[in-house]
Amino acid sequence: MQNNWLSRSACGWISSMLALILALFLATPAAAQPTSAALLPPQVAARQVTPPHVVPGTTYNPAIPTPTDALGFTLGEHPVRHHDLLAYLGTLDRLSDRISVEEIGRSHERRPILLLKITSPANHARLEQLRTEHLGRLEAGVEAPADAPVFVWANFGVHGAEASAQDAALATVYHFAAATGSEMDAMLDRAVILVVAVLNPDGHALRVSRVDRFSGEAGVSDPSHFQHSGWGEARVNHYGFDLNRDWLLLSQPEARAWVGAWQRWVPQLSLDHHEMGSNSSFYFHPGEPRRVNALITRRQTELADRIAGYHSRALDPDGVLYYAEEGFDNFYIGKGSTYPQVNGGVGILYEAGTAAGGAVEGRNGLRTYAENIRLQFRANLAAVTGAVEIRRDLTASQTAYFRQARASARASGPAAYVVAAPDDPARMQRFLGLLAIHGVTAHALTETIEAGGRRFEAGRAYLVPTDQRQAAMVRGIFETPKSFEESVFYDVSAWTMPLAYDLDWAALEPGAFRPRLLGERARGGFDRQPAPARVLAEGPYGYVVRWSDRAAPRVAGELLRAGLMVRTASAPFEAATPSGPVAFGRGALFVPTAGQQMDAAAVHALMGRLAREGGAMIAPVVSGRTPSPATDLGGNKSWTTVTRPEILLLFTGDAPRMEAGEAWWLLDHEMGLPVTLRRASELSRTELSRYTHVLILGAASSGWTRAETEALTRWTRGGGVLIASGAAAQWAQRAFAAEAGEAAAAGASPSARPAARPALAPASDGNEARTPDQPTARSAEPPRDRRDFDRMEIGETEHIVAGALFQSDLDPSHPLAFGHTDRDLAIMKVGTAVLEWPRDDAYAVVARYRDAPLLAGYASRTSIARVAGAPAVTATQRGTGTLVLFADNPTFRGTFPGTERLLLNAIFMNRHIRAPRAPDLSDEID
Ligand SMILES: [Zn+2]
Repeated sequence: MQNNWLSRSACGWISSMLALILALFLATPAAAQPTSAALLPPQVAARQVTPPHVVPGTTYNPAIPTPTDALGFTLGEHPVRHHDLLAYLGTLDRLSDRISVEEIGRSHERRPILLLKITSPANHARLEQLRTEHLGRLEAGVEAPADAPVFVWANFGVHGAEASAQDAALATVYHFAAATGSEMDAMLDRAVILVVAVLNPDGHALRVSRVDRFSGEAGVSDPSHFQHSGWGEARVNHYGFDLNRDWLLLSQPEARAWVGAWQRWVPQLSLDHHEMGSNSSFYFHPGEPRRVNALITRRQTELADRIAGYHSRALDPDGVLYYAEEGFDNFYIGKGSTYPQVNGGVGILYEAGTAAGGAVEGRNGLRTYAENIRLQFRANLAAVTGAVEIRRDLTASQTAYFRQARASARASGPAAYVVAAPDDPARMQRFLGLLAIHGVTAHALTETIEAGGRRFEAGRAYLVPTDQRQAAMVRGIFETPKSFEESVFYDVSAWTMPLAYDLDWAALEPGAFRPRLLGERARGGFDRQPAPARVLAEGPYGYVVRWSDRAAPRVAGELLRAGLMVRTASAPFEAATPSGPVAFGRGALFVPTAGQQMDAAAVHALMGRLAREGGAMIAPVVSGRTPSPATDLGGNKSWTTVTRPEILLLFTGDAPRMEAGEAWWLLDHEMGLPVTLRRASELSRTELSRYTHVLILGAASSGWTRAETEALTRWTRGGGVLIASGAAAQWAQRAFAAEAGEAAAAGASPSARPAARPALAPASDGNEARTPDQPTARSAEPPRDRRDFDRMEIGETEHIVAGALFQSDLDPSHPLAFGHTDRDLAIMKVGTAVLEWPRDDAYAVVARYRDAPLLAGYASRTSIARVAGAPAVTATQRGTGTLVLFADNPTFRGTFPGTERLLLNAIFMNRHIRAPRAPDLSDEID
């Protein structure tokens, strides 16, 4: 079925078709033979004679080209390039009346992400009707008729490095397009198969290029060969995000594309293909039985177990080594195999021991890329077969899931959650956009109410009722779980989204809820919402930009790049606007009309464009005088100018990823700031004087020589702003302490408290629990702790914080906190490292973990005690420069606008930061 997704690039389509036709002519029998067969054990070699896309005994429609026909090689011999994948899927779309293709989004690097809909021609003729009837039944909670098809979803390639997880898409789609016979006809009549190929095209492209780059004429199965190494950079997307953590968070366009599509279909079964280390065999869900999210029902796990039966029956005859109930779990709801389960379906994770090159030696013998493709495809086929056979049970389970979640929301717990971000509507819109993609209904609040000790204003706050089809997702998004049966977590143990977004929020108990509070349905969105019609009145004296708005740092960057002089306030003030006085908070920018490099008309035109682009409130100003003393717009006491930032971000590996990638995404993609990316190992060859800010995040500082360390501390003392987080923050503390000759501090454990706190530090909270690495007076005695061997795993993980939300006390008057109005700031904490108390500066702790800091997630009492009361974010003067330290990652997965704001303030508000000193009146002497 030819769709219109290709029409965007007709030329590319034609050239791809020419390449395909050429490939059909050039494909020789020799090219179709696996090249590495000689390396394989006999039973594997025998299987490899059959290409991985073929199921023996199946007849295929000769009018449909095989992957081998299209590619000119057999699947598994070489990786399939993205444009070849698109061309082949386009061919199937054109030639098969079982397939239609839709482009659902594009990656950061502009590569299409395709959704293939595969079903019988009869179902295709009424596909939209089948979809809307299915969704209508779920909404109404009614059972499906016996002849309703089952919807099966398959994710190929969320981790770009995981080769077979992507190339198996071609084998799978070919089989469904070309296999003939009554069995296949019946299957396609009873199932709608939805395939995403590929979920992470940018990671996929990087992997293909590297596997090809390091492949030789002779296959090398030595696992030390570079071709077989992990390719962490190809696992992630362009900005280094792990997209298989983004199903809930939706910070990236790829995830928004496929989760949006998933929610348009709400399939009963979802299949998620991955790879793991070469020493492991093959894995499929149901998963580790002790680590199941409380929102997943026993019935769902039973159904996953029944699907697992189809997998083992398909793999046993070939003697395939596999496992199904260890290692991988169903806890964090932002993963591709767990998300479907808190949305009423069954999710299956597949993991094949990787062989990125042709073949690699592992603990279980030789693994081959072609064999992995076959395993992924055959497991997928077994699951679809199972889904068709147990479709009545899958469908009934899904209907029951939504009905029960709704009933239990009505029976207990809050009636609704109320949320607001009064000083940053754009952040609120992002949150509403997140809810909308997840199918969660939110409404504008119609009356001003008080809840949880806060006031929520009509029209500026929103209500999320719990009695809705997505009741389970509402719980998943808003709950703050703190007690767990297990201490082992594959990923984070908390993800409460209103905390991540730093919203004002409260639960509304049934007694406080009235249906008339629900106004218009809110939709929101992740993109800035431009206001093209908005006309900014002329500001004869200048313009003020509200700093609390999400896009304000973006505006600051644009103004500075345009060469404008920009001032920023350290105190709240009231500006005189044409429509009267308007209050602004700390950090607000003032752009004077006079004294600029451009004339007043050009300044006005630029400000008008920035106002129309949206995301930040901009007001014209008619006078420099303000009602309160010391805030007049031309004054010194509360005002300073903003320096145009020149940012250097140091990263490890071949590309920025995780914390470094997330910071790059925030500064570049979200704020439009140019960021110089450079390998940390090239520090000694870097001219630091060019930069105003250097960012070292996570592990970037490891392996530096003394000379390199000194270059950075010298640069900081000379006026630079050094920003370090996580392990790099611990490194920076030691580096500066060593430089200052504070030898004792330099050797101190990162988590240890100083012997005595500075006199001005907050009083002890009584949480001075002994940590394991602090010796006691009786430490000379041998340890007498004894535990049973099989309790070792619990002992090993008991004090690990895999990811939990901790409450901090933020100083909203500190320049690093400008834009924040209250003292509560939730921080995502992985591990228990904290910062040392700054010496000689009582004003330098921007945020400190509260005395009872755990908001949500798993942390042992010992771990909580290590963190409680300690500094989380500090900003200290070093010479004429500034050292900004974050104990944790401030841009965790691109989903923490509250802590991201602190990082952005370190870029723009640094000139407000100073150490205590005698007042300097030199400018005031006349
Ligand atoms: Zn994976």
